[in-house]
Amino acid sequence: MASEKVEWLDEQSIYEAISQAGTPEREQIDDIIARGLELKGLSFEDVALLCRVDSEELLAPVFAAAKKVKEAIYGRRIVLFAPLYISNLCANECLYCAFRRSNTLLTRRALQREEIQAQTRAILDQGHKRVLMVAGESYPKEDGFSYVIKAIDAIYAARNEHGDSIRRINANVAPLTVEEFAELKQAGIGTYQLFQESYHRETYGKVHLSGRKKDFDWRLGGMDRAMQAGIDDVGIGALLGLADWRFEILAMMSHIRHLEKEFGVGCHTISVPRIEPAVGSDMASAPPQAVSDADFKKIVAILRLAVPYTGIIMSTRENAAMRYATLELGVSQISAGSCTDPGGYTESRNEAAAQFQLGDHRPLAEVIKDIGERGFIPSFCTACYRTGRTGHDFMDMAKPGAIKSKCGPNALSTYLEYLLDYKPEGLARPGRNAIQSELICMSARDQKVARSLLDKVEQGQRDVFC
Ligand code: SAM
Ligand code: SF4
Repeated sequence: MASEKVEWLDEQSIYEAISQAGTPEREQIDDIIARGLELKGLSFEDVALLCRVDSEELLAPVFAAAKKVKEAIYGRRIVLFAPLYISNLCANECLYCAFRRSNTLLTRRALQREEIQAQTRAILDQGHKRVLMVAGESYPKEDGFSYVIKAIDAIYAARNEHGDSIRRINANVAPLTVEEFAELKQAGIGTYQLFQESYHRETYGKVHLSGRKKDFDWRLGGMDRAMQAGIDDVGIGALLGLADWRFEILAMMSHIRHLEKEFGVGCHTISVPRIEPAVGSDMASAPPQAVSDADFKKIVAILRLAVPYTGIIMSTRENAAMRYATLELGVSQISAGSCTDPGGYTESRNEAAAQFQLGDHRPLAEVIKDIGERGFIPSFCTACYRTGRTGHDFMDMAKPGAIKSKCGPNALSTYLEYLLDYKPEGLARPGRNAIQSELICMSARDQKVARSLLDKVEQGQRDVFC
């Protein structure tokens, strides 16, 4: 049975905002930028107008403002994570995805507890502390949905030779009932992530041919059910390349406003996945409304100005050059050293089991070295989730700028842990230099906190945070 129609998504008003935006004038853009720099976010109309900015002359100040906002709120730290694909079984028929049910070219696999733990150890051995658990929408018959809950338990219980374990699991699994979401929360997830794929109902219908996911409203109501179940950290996204990206951005704004109105807090993160080639999918090689590199950068910059306190996630779908470019424009979290085939971290990579092709295959240490050379500080921090700074509490700290006093010191202590325990080649000296340079840029108060955490790590304590 189809779900009840979600009323807050008003396609008509999105179309009107796009068509009424007109051709942007320099003065209008300057006004919007000035509002963006106040870090209070932008209105629907502001975003619609920014979407129409095309000239280099107008784009340059928008990019510069996005960079300023990013640095004001997040500093130079970049949070790192790895995806952990536990299963590629799927009962849906999403035309862009290799996991879709009818794809006979895909090797199917749902990892068992031991296998999940072996993947977890391999991710830990790279130095990661945070994973995004991912699965197709079909679980082994004997377990049903409890397969997901058991997988979370398996991941948290795994230890590598250093005695390290995963400190935060975010989950990207199909939308659930309120009761199932409550189980997911109970199992200890950090952020629940769900991409609407397309907020454009007609487009959505054309690319999701069968299975539970065909029901647009069931998916669109997913975050409401998650929040009703008490999950207050949610991550939204649109799969870029299906419908007009301007429509998708404005629809995401509507989604955030809706969550703020209903639950008092919007989303914690936004992802900007672009469709990548996938085994057995013609659509993935030729997306109906492919997003150019130039528009992609614009999307990141607009989001950074529009929702300054929302983390923006960039995955390894994108190549290294695009990842660097968008780090400067507002991205605050990246995956690294990833694979999208279940089992891929310990076995030779199997493209015939992967969800899509990656644009960045570099191991974690190489990514850290490269971003470090560009002046960014890697962070393996998981403190917010573990100290209960989520949802409202996180936003209450983030909005007056206080979260930087937590993120900064925690980034340094977790980076030092990584350098000491995983001894990445060629990183010891540049890593320590980066920590020192970052320390001297901090306020006296933050510096004191950071030094105390760093001392503890030097003395052998682990998992210290503020
Ligand atoms: N199966 C669940 C679902 O669909 O929500 C969760 C996991 S799905 C494996 C994760 C995301 O991968 C999807 O939401 C979709 O946006 C993205 N994805 C699927 N095919 C893709 C492709 N060819 N290129 C890039 N991203 C893709
Ligand atoms: Fe299944 Fe998700 Fe892929 Fe759709 S996007 S086929 S639901 S794994």
